[in-house]
Amino acid sequence: MFHEKGRLYPTVEKRITVLNVMIDAVTMDQAVARLEKYIANFDRCHMIATANAEMVMMAAEDPELHRILSNSDLVVADGAGVVWAARHYGNPVPERVAGYDLAQKLLERSVRNNYKVYFLGGAPGVAEQAKIKAEKLYPGVNIVGVRNGFFSEMDEEEILNEIANCKPDVLLVALGVPKQEKWLSKHLSKLHVPVAIGVGGTFDVMAGIMKRAPLWMQKANLEWLFRLLMQPQRFFRMLALPKFVFRVLLYKKNETK
Ligand code: UDP
Repeated sequence: MFHEKGRLYPTVEKRITVLNVMIDAVTMDQAVARLEKYIANFDRCHMIATANAEMVMMAAEDPELHRILSNSDLVVADGAGVVWAARHYGNPVPERVAGYDLAQKLLERSVRNNYKVYFLGGAPGVAEQAKIKAEKLYPGVNIVGVRNGFFSEMDEEEILNEIANCKPDVLLVALGVPKQEKWLSKHLSKLHVPVAIGVGGTFDVMAGIMKRAPLWMQKANLEWLFRLLMQPQRFFRMLALPKFVFRVLLYKKNETK
């Protein structure tokens, strides 16, 4: 059970919708357990998305992204906005499962369980730096390959072959939203990896190029403000956030329970 505003909710894993985008109501531990199950029973590549308000708003305008999210094996509530919207609909998710934190948990688990991990994405050199950081943070971690995220369509076959040769258990893809989701969806059947996750700016944070908001800002649901202050060029992109709040308030009746 989990506690939310004086009410108790069962921690059963269920799917809810926020502005018509499917979100899995799972805790971090449940998300990790699910991914470990995919790895243990490897039959195909499972796609995991980490949804924040910006992604939900993009999906409303982009049917391809919407379809990809609907077909994903797991969509976690990455942002405070999605957590708030779910609670507003009376269908709360147990907690925020940020993509960055999910990636860290998996890296931590990968040491114990011998998972092999591949980093794809980021500017040249960033994934390498993120690998060095991961090796410091999680001694014994096995990052079997890294590749920057600035490539052309012509390079894709070579990238897929390299991933196949490295045989990772977990593929972290940081190409930004929606590029990473579209890239994964396009190549899903060719990826012989049990778990592939779109992780946005995770390598930038690991490499020390970007900072994560301090914990007090994360807890106060102000991570968006931190990002805006650090990357003012995101201003126009982040206009999606007030629009998201407005739509959630407006479309309350349409959401599933
Ligand atoms: N990126 C990339 N290839 C591209 C475009 C972007 O590898 O063609 C990387 C970029 O260097 C950054 C990440 O994708 O590391 C996107 O980070 P952002 O914080 O913008 O993620 P989002 O908010 O879109 O999840």
